[in-house]
Amino acid sequence: MALIDPRLHGARCAGRAPMFDDEILGETNEDRSARLAAAARICRGCPVLSACRAAAHEQDHPAGIWAAKLRNRNPQGYGRPTKEPAA
Ligand code: SF4
Repeated sequence: MALIDPRLHGARCAGRAPMFDDEILGETNEDRSARLAAAARICRGCPVLSACRAAAHEQDHPAGIWAAKLRNRNPQGYGRPTKEPAA
């Protein structure tokens, strides 16, 4: 699989999908929090952390963990979106 950005050669997340994804269907909130925290820890030791941060800023819609930060999280929060109140 090709890198999303050539600056990310040596990325510690390579081959670890979907660990860095925003959400995984069916995952509990507790499992998600633990997974994202573990992903962020991996980022903090990544040799291309700075390049990843720059790449995230250049993406239109970065999602998931990039440079130890969760990007583009569903603004409705995790799980099913809340319904609009009835008019
Ligand atoms: S900083 Fe994190 S998300 Fe970015 S390339 Fe490294 S391991 Fe992957």
